[in-house]
Amino acid sequence: MKQSQLLIPTLREAPADAEAVSHKLMLRAGLIRQLASGVYTYLPFGFRVLKKVQEIVREEMDRAGAQELLMPAMQPAELWRESGRYDVYGPELIRLKDRHDREFALGPTHEEVITSLVAGEVNSYRQLPMTLYQIQTKYRDERRPRFGLLRGREFLMKDAYSFGRSWEELDETYRAMYEAYTRIFTRVGLNFRAVQADAGAIGGEGETHEFMALADIGEDTIVVSENGTYAANLEKAEMFWERPAVSNAEIPAMTRVHTPGAHTIEQLCEFFGCEASVFVKTILYRVDGQAVAVAVRGDREVNETKVLNALGGEIIELADGADVERLTGAAVGFAGPAGLNGAKLLIDREVQAMESAIAGANETDFHVENAKPGRDFEADLVGDYRNAAEGDLSPDGSGALKFYRGIEVGHVFKLGTKYSEKLGADYLDEEGRRRTAIMGCYGIGISRILSAVVEQHYDENGIVWPEEIAPAAVHIIPASAKDEAQMKLAVELYERFRAAGIEALLDDRDERAGVKFKDADLLGLPYRIVVGREAGEGRVEFKSRSASDKETMTADQAFERIVK
Ligand code: ATP
Ligand code: MG
Repeated sequence: MKQSQLLIPTLREAPADAEAVSHKLMLRAGLIRQLASGVYTYLPFGFRVLKKVQEIVREEMDRAGAQELLMPAMQPAELWRESGRYDVYGPELIRLKDRHDREFALGPTHEEVITSLVAGEVNSYRQLPMTLYQIQTKYRDERRPRFGLLRGREFLMKDAYSFGRSWEELDETYRAMYEAYTRIFTRVGLNFRAVQADAGAIGGEGETHEFMALADIGEDTIVVSENGTYAANLEKAEMFWERPAVSNAEIPAMTRVHTPGAHTIEQLCEFFGCEASVFVKTILYRVDGQAVAVAVRGDREVNETKVLNALGGEIIELADGADVERLTGAAVGFAGPAGLNGAKLLIDREVQAMESAIAGANETDFHVENAKPGRDFEADLVGDYRNAAEGDLSPDGSGALKFYRGIEVGHVFKLGTKYSEKLGADYLDEEGRRRTAIMGCYGIGISRILSAVVEQHYDENGIVWPEEIAPAAVHIIPASAKDEAQMKLAVELYERFRAAGIEALLDDRDERAGVKFKDADLLGLPYRIVVGREAGEGRVEFKSRSASDKETMTADQAFERIVK
């Protein structure tokens, strides 16, 4: 590849609206260009990386016994109605109509299509288990597309779906996929962790793990124990808990306290002169339309996923201001568990174990002191409804919990029969009985991987590609394209690499050496050979992108070094 002929439009400065390091670098290195918000073109060098990631994914999927196919992006709404998702999917689903007014959706995922396909084509237990996958463009009208390829509205995903005859068979496939994912993310050069996630209402009785690339820009919080044996995302994370010993102290009667202007926990701490942990914070929600109040300690955060799971609900949303006023009879900010009527009351187990608390009085500008659980308020449910916090002890006894930020690059999920039941994916077993296939689904954000890798591999001068997915292995740079000896040696080397099947990029542009070096740093190919003043003696300068020191050696030695 000769740089003079390639479309690699590098930029000195990143556009002002690019926030993430990876987004800036990928624009500056001429790998991607935005067409619309969350919609990108992969330029030749970006596309090379994308293809390498795809190849790794294909190799590992095929090795794990999955078969590749390709499904359409355009999906009839009818199919989505059959699964029951057409109406609940919400505005992320891009909907359109054809000339006959028939409704379609652009696939954000393919459970419906694959399940109906298998329903039609697979009939016998002999054909199972079967795992099918594709690498295909997905469409999701994300609320906040951002950070370049990290959260796109049109993006490339690998999605796999398994169909088996029993939960044991699903366990095996799940394990195989989990291992394939571990190899894939290792090979693309990511520092990642597999974390337990919540199966929630999306379906399935099953286990689910997310593969998280560690990066500060990540939108997910992951919770890992000191020795690393416990890892979960924040929605799922549990903590060790022991009920504190009960003292027999007499708690005085609950009293109202006038607290004008104090409604946040900080303001209350100041007003009462005590720690956040002596307060109870009461948050009002609507869960599938029903009013629900959740009380956690003042220094804790409600975990909405745990609340939803405790209630077996599907949709949880914060109650709006008017709702809060109606339920508490007070302005927003004064809700409390005592005397709250008309809402189901969920009390976090830590609150239930408090001897007394300061809480909202359900009266504007008032709080109550000495509110005692069981005496002054009664829970409908008691349980763990809070987020884990740093320093909590791991539920498996493996030390204190620490938080990290992560980018979700992959997701494996035991679906069970949610789709196969609705869409009729069944088969005849050995005895000729009709049985429902048991499914798993497994996604990888192919395009998101590019951003995640760059987020982990860069320095102040540009990208530092891991070898397996670099757009090319070696960058050959004649310091001056006008110097005959330099160009001759550079071209010779370039041809040798080509003959050896090693991808080389020759910077044959008539540019100043400084400009070429800057671009080379930005592009981040793993090895660089500069052909300069000593070209006449057959000597070049060799440098790897990740190291700072250069070595002078013969062209032969440089060639051998890279071949090795
Ligand atoms: P997120 O929580 O980031 O929105 P998700 O749970 O919606 O992800 P899945 O439906 O499990 O994601 O999709 C499988 C994989 O596709 C994800 O693990 C992620 O790597 C990738 N992915 C999801 N949404 C996007 C997006 N908008 N842009 C790029 N990649 C995405
Ligand atoms: Mg999403």
